[in-house]
Amino acid sequence: MMNAEQYIDSLRRIKHRVFMFGENVDNIVDHPMIRPSINAVAKTYELAHNPVHENLLAADSNLNGKRINRFTHLHQGADDLINKVKMQRLLGQKTAACFQRCVGMDAFNAVDSVTYEMERDLNLEYHRWFRRFLLDIQEKDFVVEGAMTDPKGDRSLRPSKQADPDLFLRIVSREKDGIVVRGAKAHQTGALSAHEILVMPTMAMDEEDAAYAVCFAVPSGTEGITCIYGRQSCDTRKMEGTEIDVGNCRYGGHECLVVFDDLFVPWERVFMCGEYRYTGALVERFAGYHRQSYGGCKVGVGDVLIGAAALAAEYNGAAKASHIRDKLIEMIHLNETLYACGIACSSQGKATASGTYLIDMLLANVCKQNVTRFPYEIARLAEDIAGGLMVTLPSEKDYRHPEIGKYIEKYLKGTAEVPTEQRMRVMRLIENITLGTAAVGYRTESMHGAGSPQAQRIMIGRQADLEQKKSLARIIAGIVD
Ligand code: SF4
Ligand code: FE
Repeated sequence: MMNAEQYIDSLRRIKHRVFMFGENVDNIVDHPMIRPSINAVAKTYELAHNPVHENLLAADSNLNGKRINRFTHLHQGADDLINKVKMQRLLGQKTAACFQRCVGMDAFNAVDSVTYEMERDLNLEYHRWFRRFLLDIQEKDFVVEGAMTDPKGDRSLRPSKQADPDLFLRIVSREKDGIVVRGAKAHQTGALSAHEILVMPTMAMDEEDAAYAVCFAVPSGTEGITCIYGRQSCDTRKMEGTEIDVGNCRYGGHECLVVFDDLFVPWERVFMCGEYRYTGALVERFAGYHRQSYGGCKVGVGDVLIGAAALAAEYNGAAKASHIRDKLIEMIHLNETLYACGIACSSQGKATASGTYLIDMLLANVCKQNVTRFPYEIARLAEDIAGGLMVTLPSEKDYRHPEIGKYIEKYLKGTAEVPTEQRMRVMRLIENITLGTAAVGYRTESMHGAGSPQAQRIMIGRQADLEQKKSLARIIAGIVD
């Protein structure tokens, strides 16, 4: 397993084509806006070498028998699924940000079981190719970015009916040695922190959209891939060279629009090519795993936010007020409910035909549906407790100013024993998670990441056996049809 330094060094060897603010970024590793997200991924390497957390961050590979980072592991039992959620909560607590590496892990597990079924049913080599690819990833301990979301253009039209056929990523030609693909993936979490990219179809395809049924992996610096960096609220504060105003200056997450411009993919890295009947299973399983993931990572960030709100109350001298205590209890209740869902869908996991474990799909969808709501309520309560200062606070440069800094020190003090700087730091942290760069992960991603709320409602409707519930009611009520 790589350690954090080796991981960061390994990124220096990748030649990404990246644009930010209309300019090409040459050095992503030392870029002040990008580095915090690399630090967040580095935490997944660091903790794998920490004897206290090793049991969560590492696992025994079923492919080579070696100790590997759990982020490259195929879940071999319900315990693995539970440990995954616990690991994500821990990393959320340590980074208060998106640590980006889960998308690839969720993609491996989904692609593994689906390619097994394709190879079994269709006598194709996809599963063998995929396992060879994954073994290499485990041995190199690489980060793989899972890529599912296509731009999708006009939502009322199928992929092949779009005015521009590239609005869904597609196969443009099949060659002797591989395929050529064109299209884009949007909202790509951790695009610049990853060594490889694993592309999947964005939804269930039918026969006329078979050219869009494609799954493959390529190194993320491959020629033909362009990353366009996504803006986040308050992102340029990271370029100001100050610490307090950023709120969380060490860790962050990022997303990119990733464009694939007639990219060649060799056959041994292609895991689906036109087999549209398997797209539905792949999308559902990947989404299911990622909906489970949110029962871990969002809970960990929630822990930090609840802690920050409690500190803000203390610094304001309001900690003993009964309504404040009640609000903190409500935040904890909501946060632990999300965790309970993450653990529940894991504990009820079952083996797929490939041996890789899959979560309980109904409970995973219930988990994510709650994630589309509870972090918003937790954020609302945190803002309530913090007070308006979290959005009207002067800058750190004013606080450090030789002439006026003393006014901030004097007039923005809360309780006498707490230095004003501590109060400023905690206000900025709450601002960062609820409104700033980390709000991408804690709020909007809670809504739309791993599928928007309606996607879970469709799955809940499909997974719940309403007929069986009706028959239960008939028996109790003594209704004879
Ligand atoms: Fe992992 Fe959460 Fe980020 Fe998704 S949002 S990659 S589950 S930390
Ligand atoms: Fe996500």
